[in-house]
Amino acid sequence: MRAPGTVWFVGAGPGDPELITVKGRALIERAGAILFAGSLVNEAATRWAPPGCTIADSKDMTLEQMAAWLILHAQKHETVIRLQTGDPALYGALIEVVQPLDAAGVPVRVVPGVSSAMASAAAAVESFTLPEVTQSVIFTRVEGRTPMPPGESLAELGRHHCTLCIFLSITLLHKVQAGLREAGWADDAPMLVVHKASWPGEEVIVRGTLADIRERCRAAGIVSQAMVIASPTLGSRQWQELAKSKLYDASFTHRFRRASQPAAAPQEPHEPTAP
Ligand code: SAH
Repeated sequence: MRAPGTVWFVGAGPGDPELITVKGRALIERAGAILFAGSLVNEAATRWAPPGCTIADSKDMTLEQMAAWLILHAQKHETVIRLQTGDPALYGALIEVVQPLDAAGVPVRVVPGVSSAMASAAAAVESFTLPEVTQSVIFTRVEGRTPMPPGESLAELGRHHCTLCIFLSITLLHKVQAGLREAGWADDAPMLVVHKASWPGEEVIVRGTLADIRERCRAAGIVSQAMVIASPTLGSRQWQELAKSKLYDASFTHRFRRASQPAAAPQEPHEPTAP
């Protein structure tokens, strides 16, 4: 019997078929079989599949059925693809499917994708990090049927007052509000919800505050596929006072550029590449 082909877990990106990586697209172009997450992945991403490629939707399959499908097709084809929404490392049930493939001796590779968190920032022209505002981002969710491990409630994570990208929680906005309030966020803290970020013609951006975001989403009819973002950086495009990045500061010397102006204040130690 020939050795099985490789199963590639490919991040399809957030929805716009052009936001798949070049590598992901090249794999689709030579795939013998593709299993895509139909309820979430834009089917258009499979349009580069070659003639004769077997394409199936996993939306009605259990994890066992998905693994069995991938193992079966890896016996017949060199390249088999599991096409996942955004990036496979985030809420993607990746490991549950990789384990049975490992057990069956089927080689596995992963190709990263553009997460919906990043597509949501792009849609709204927001930055998740700003100097002297926040330098950290947390990817999280609130508790639905999947319980949250100890220490990861929004009431606890929110205490950092950094950027929070809250997945899988659009129907649980009351829990988001309660958690952030418990963490000390003010009622007028800005919030952003992006529905179907990057999907051509379907993206909806809702801006509001901690107090009114639920009402605004209800009014906009948003009940699924939405990223909820709480961050002290939201709306910074309109700010008059903005602490600028050290990397582009004229008084700051780094590996690629000498300072052209004297430093106004004591500088931080030089960082190798990033601001
Ligand atoms: N791996 C994916 C996340 C899968 S979990 C990623 O990296 O994006 C599914 C959740 O992701 C949804 O409940 C929603 O919160 C978010 N999501 C997926 N696609 C989205 C999109 N195009 N716009 C906004 N949120 C999206």
